[in-house]
Amino acid sequence: MKNIASTYIALGSNAPDKMHFLQLALNQIHLEVGTIVTCSSLYATQAQGFLGDDFLNMVAQVQTRLSPQELLNVLLEIEKKLGRVREGDFYSNRTIDLDILFFEDEVIHSKHLNVPHLQLHKRNFVLHPLNEIAPDFIHPELKKSVKQMCAELEKLPIQKIDTVLDQPQLPANKRNYLAIEGNIGAGKTSLATMIAQDYGAKLIPER
Ligand code: AMP
Repeated sequence: MKNIASTYIALGSNAPDKMHFLQLALNQIHLEVGTIVTCSSLYATQAQGFLGDDFLNMVAQVQTRLSPQELLNVLLEIEKKLGRVREGDFYSNRTIDLDILFFEDEVIHSKHLNVPHLQLHKRNFVLHPLNEIAPDFIHPELKKSVKQMCAELEKLPIQKIDTVLDQPQLPANKRNYLAIEGNIGAGKTSLATMIAQDYGAKLIPER
């Protein structure tokens, strides 16, 4: 089994229902990528580099067993599922944009994937949310902390939003472990045995 790796993913949307798309993307990441460890607040920013509606951005730390390339493929699929249409021009309105910022402290420069993300140290809508959840994380190439990169950034308008997204929940059939707790004699072992038999799962009794 592959080791668990920690990755930071930037999420952004400038669709009319931005909050809805961010929530859907977060749920899907939890389902297909791994456990969401921490989420930043939401931040509102103006579109940079093109004329478009304002964005809502956030960053999530996720634990995953996927490789960086597998992770990229899954994120591109999620973007597609959520209706992102890639138009010919580089910068355009988007229902959802998902970028890998860091993957552990790995450095990857391949045709389709650059990690750390090449633009992250220049983007206020990435560094502000990242600074909230990982201020001391060191950029493996620039050798600077997120806090330091954030302080060096050109000051552009950015607004922290009070609303928080719902914590994504895994559907029951996607859970790997189930813990049964209860008083002595309540029937924990019998219940756990029955569930293990019904689902063909391994029973791990308390030691
Ligand atoms: P964008 O239009 O910003 O969503 O760019 C998406 C494309 O950038 C993808 O098709 C990837 O091949 C490429 N890419 C390179 N590095 C990254 C990264 N760290 N995270 C996400 N996409 C990346």
